[in-house]
Amino acid sequence: MKCNKPNSDLFSYAEGLLLKGEAADVKKHLEGCESCRKQFEQITGFLSVIDERKNVNENPFLFTRIEARMLRPEPVQMFAVRRLVPTMVALLFFAGGVFAGINIGSLYGTDSESSQALVYETKQ
Ligand SMILES: [Zn+2]
Repeated sequence: MKCNKPNSDLFSYAEGLLLKGEAADVKKHLEGCESCRKQFEQITGFLSVIDERKNVNENPFLFTRIEARMLRPEPVQMFAVRRLVPTMVALLFFAGGVFAGINIGSLYGTDSESSQALVYETKQ
């Protein structure tokens, strides 16, 4: 059966915010109305969960630890060096490749006569 009692009254009653007369009316209504009683049980369930969440144990040293961490100087240079390591390794590989390429080219490269012949052949 649907009841037309406003939910706000049930919330206020559950939180103990109603005046004595209003609270007595709601209590009397809850005794006679099953749908409102079920709603009221749900509301008190929600409120108890909310109250449990409110009572989180505070760590008294939380602020001190956060403050100390904020004031601690960060090792910025180590961070920057770590970020540069892959770039330096890639640069070393690139330089090694260029160096090896030049040396291999000079070993098997063309001498001056054959390069002039190549230029001559290209012009024709
Ligand atoms: Zn009702």
